[in-house]
This record gives sequence, structure tokens and C-alpha cells, in this order.
Amino acid sequence: MSFQVFGIAVSRGVAIGRAVLVASSRVDVAHYFVPPGEIQAEIDRLLRARDAVVHELATLKEELPEDAPHELAALLDVHLMLLHDEAFTGGASQWIVERHYNAEWALSAQLEVLARQFDEMEDDYLRERKADLEQLVERVLGALAQEQGDAPTPVTPRDFAGEDPLLLVAADIAPADMIQFKRSVFRGFITDIGGKTSHTAIVARSMDIPAVVGTREASRLIMQDDWVIIDGDAGTVIVNPSPIVLEEYRFRQRQSELERARLGRLRHTPAVTLDGEHIELHANIEMPADAEAAVESGATGVGLFRSEFLFMNRDGELPSEEEQFAAYKAAVVAMKGMPVTIRTVDVGADKPLDRLSINELRHEHVLNPAMGLRAIRWSLAEPSMFRQQLRAIYRASAFGKVRLLIPMVAHLSEVRQILDAVRKVQQQLTDAGHAYTRVELGVMIEIPAAAVMLPLLLRHVDFVSIGTNDLIQYTLAIDRADEAVAHLYDPWHPAVLQLISQSIAQARSAGKSVSVCGEMAGDPVFTELLLAMGLRSFSMHPSQIPAVKQRILRADSQRMAVALPRILESEDPQAAADKELALARGGAAAVH
Ligand code: PEP
Ligand code: MG
Repeated sequence: MSFQVFGIAVSRGVAIGRAVLVASSRVDVAHYFVPPGEIQAEIDRLLRARDAVVHELATLKEELPEDAPHELAALLDVHLMLLHDEAFTGGASQWIVERHYNAEWALSAQLEVLARQFDEMEDDYLRERKADLEQLVERVLGALAQEQGDAPTPVTPRDFAGEDPLLLVAADIAPADMIQFKRSVFRGFITDIGGKTSHTAIVARSMDIPAVVGTREASRLIMQDDWVIIDGDAGTVIVNPSPIVLEEYRFRQRQSELERARLGRLRHTPAVTLDGEHIELHANIEMPADAEAAVESGATGVGLFRSEFLFMNRDGELPSEEEQFAAYKAAVVAMKGMPVTIRTVDVGADKPLDRLSINELRHEHVLNPAMGLRAIRWSLAEPSMFRQQLRAIYRASAFGKVRLLIPMVAHLSEVRQILDAVRKVQQQLTDAGHAYTRVELGVMIEIPAAAVMLPLLLRHVDFVSIGTNDLIQYTLAIDRADEAVAHLYDPWHPAVLQLISQSIAQARSAGKSVSVCGEMAGDPVFTELLLAMGLRSFSMHPSQIPAVKQRILRADSQRMAVALPRILESEDPQAAADKELALARGGAAAVH
């Protein structure tokens, strides 16, 4: 039966493929694809684990004391029967053969399928056998883990030989997992929770693949292997579409690929407005390897290297100075002399260091992580870790133009501590004979307090970068990762626009460079407005650069600036911008 699920559109485009449900609430296991030559070995591994559990339960049954209640033996019989049922290991083996899932993943996928069948049973007794099935799966997973020992499991390699594209469906994807999936085969993401600027959404955009988040129930309604269409523009998911709908979406998919190819031709065109203003289009990256995509997209620098992704998936161990240095240097070298803005680690909130999802973090650890020990607060609470990161960043400056960016600054005392740490680090590097050059220092404007006191901050720093994702979150008191309030997360809110506009104006009048690196910078809907505010430096996911550049090439920044006061004074800035910018555009067309 075909049906639709509605969520929040966070990454554009159309993706069509088979649903892959991962990390179900019941069992969280490693997910990776088995190379074609190892399929039989993986099935054997599964069967060995199953046999180990059969042996364990059979022994248990044999050794039952005489006076044990006979229900116990009956229950063990049920378990043994389930273990031998073709639907159990047979079904799981099929996932291995057809989808190349590893044994653990295959087992949890099959559990999903069987659990649903149990849920639909009329008979109470049979329905309750689902719990037995879950216990058995956990036992077999335990046996698999024992066999696996401590050997590391490869995660989602690229060499999947399956034919159908795969779309990932999950209740939530922790940023640490997203980064693993970044190099994987998935062509689209669907999650139950999350908002437009949650980190799941940001990583999906950086991968340039369609995604819909905040669907609330997708992971419950969609079944393993269902055919699914993700409409990343509308924020809808169509499950088991009819052939006509499928054909329509395939057509749209082809159209958007053509559009992308057309925009790609702007790669080498400099970003200059109609009135001759040169605009910097920088890239946001998460890993050094992303620098390649940045250069390919025509970026003229990296405006935001989110270094926290180097700190994730490490089982509590942080990257050493050498490892960080190698990563920063790799990005700097890849950018071939163009500036690389490295942001110090921004963990906490919805970017925990380990695999915790935002929900787990909220419920089990910190009540309000977005307002807790995150970003610079965390760095200043861990001074030796902070200095280690600063040393690695400074050492990378010997290989190109490096800029240092500090997230979530709210107090001048923080700036003083940062400057103090920088001085110490410079001394340490000089003493140790390490080369470094001048590194500009910038702070992110993400907390309203920082925007309001910007003139004071500007006395101490070389540049500022406006993080609109957090600035909106903190100005409007809307958790950016919470789908329940996603409708109130509003970049068009007059208070948000005032803060951005004022910050740009104040930085410019102080002669300091200012950029926007939040998601607004990469959304072509805001390009003209930001130009009107005087912004000349944008930083965004490489995939967004061509679309934003196209807007810039068609804009007259002076005419846009004339329209700005009427937009900022309006009670409905979005409607005012539509009208005023269209008028300004009309004028520009008449002049040129
Ligand atoms: C922002 O807050 O706008 C930003 C760019 O930082 P992040 O999204 O990594 O919090
Ligand atoms: Mg931020």
C-alpha cells in the first residue's frame, strides 16, 4: 500500500531507493556491507552463532532440575523451535545474500520484519512471543560478538555490489554515525527527529543528498526494503509509490541532475555582482578530505572547518596533537594557498563525542545540552586539550593561510582567556622549534549577547563569522534539533534579521571582515538579502556554491541595499523581501 510521511525538508533533491532501517530502538548493532566474496562466510558466521545458542539452550534444558516447573522446559522448546525456524536464520541469510548486510545487521533487519508479523497477530499468546524472539536475537548477537572478539568492524565501505540505491531510515542518527555514513552508499536520509539545522541535516546537505527529518514516525511506518521516494524539496517521503508517481519522480530526478550540471559550469566564474562587488564564496567542511570537493565547487577558501568531527567515534580517546596537525595540514595543503578557517572543537549540545543520540543525551545526561558545556566553554574547561588543538592549528599555518575561529563566545573574559592560551602556545612552539605564521583570530557570533556587544568584541579580534544556525536558536529560544518546535525556527524573524544586519554593519564600520557561515549563507533564498545587508563573504556547503553564485551574478548589491530598511522595518520581513527585492531586481534588469 502506498502512503506518505511528512517531515521537514532539509536537503534538496529527489532520491529513490530501498529503505534500510538501522539502529532500531530494540537492538543497536554495527552496520556494514560484506564484500561479495565473503557472503558465504558471513552466512556461516551467522549459523555458527545460531548453533552456539542452540547448544547453550539445549544444555540448559537437559540440566533442568527434576522439580523445575514444566513451563520452563516448554519455553526453552519454543526458543529452540524459533531458532530452527526458516523465517529466523533463513530470513536473515537472505538479507546477507541480497543486500550484503553483515550478520548482525541482517539479524536486526529480520527481527524488524518478524516483530511486525507478531504485532499483527490476533492471538494474545502468540503476540507475546515477540519478546522471546527479541531475547533470542540478543543471544545470537551476543554469540556473534564473542566470535568477533575485539576485531574492529569495517563500517559501510563503498564496495556494495547491490543494484538498488539505498536510503537510510532511522529514529535518529548521531553526528558520529553521520560522519561514518558520509562515505557510504546511502543516497538519502529519513529520520524521525531533528530540525532544519540539526547536525544530521547539515551533514546530509554537505553530502548533497536529499534528506527529510522530523518525520516523527518514519522508522516505525516504513519497513525494511520498502521502495521509498524522498522529496527533499517538499519534505515528504512516499512509501511504496505507484508506477505513475515513480515515473514522475524519476523525471524530476533527471531534471534536477541536469540543473546541477548546468550550474556546475559556473565553477570558474568569479562571484561578482552586477555592480562589480567581488564576493567571497567559501566552503564549510567537516573532514580534510572535503577540501577536494570545496576546490571542485569553485570555493575560494574554507570559511568553516568544523574540527569537532575529528574528535568523534574515538571511544573516548581524543586525537593527538600530531593527528590533528596532520588533518589541518592536509586541508591547508589541499586548498593550495587559499584561506582555511579552522574552528576549534564545538562539541556538546547535539554533537556529543560518542554515539549518543540527542535524545539519549537529553534524557540521560544533561537536561539542556544546547545551553550547557559546549564549544569554547568545553575547550576552556579542558585547557590542555585546548592548547593541544591550538598548537596543531598554528603548526598547520606554516603550510598556508590559516585562520582560527572560536565558537559560542559570549563573554569578553572568554576572549581574554583565548588570547592568553594563544600567547602560551606561540611561546611553546617557538621553544620547540616549530614553524608557524600569523594566524588571524575570529569569533563566531552565535549567541545574541555576542551580537549585541559586538563593538567590544571587535576590539580584540581580526574577524567575525555569524553562525546563523545557533543565533536563530538562541535568539528565539528554539532548540534547532527539536522537530516539535521546528515551525517556530524562523530565519525571517525580525529580531534575527536585525541582529545579523547590525553585526555585518558594525564589523564593516570597524574595518574587520565578517562572514556568515550558518545555513542561511548557503540558501539562495537569502543571498540578495545578505548582499543588501553588506555581506561580502559567504561560507556554505560546497554543493550550494553554484546556486548562490548564480544569484550573486544576477544581483545589484546597491539596489538591494536601498530595499533593506523597508524589509527590516516590516512586520512581515519575508513578504517585504519578496516584494522589495523583486522591485530592486526589476530596476537592475532595466539598467543592465
Ligand atoms: C552555526 O551555528 O550557524 C554554525 C555554523 O555552527 P554549527 O552549525 O556547527 O553549530
Ligand atoms: Mg553553531
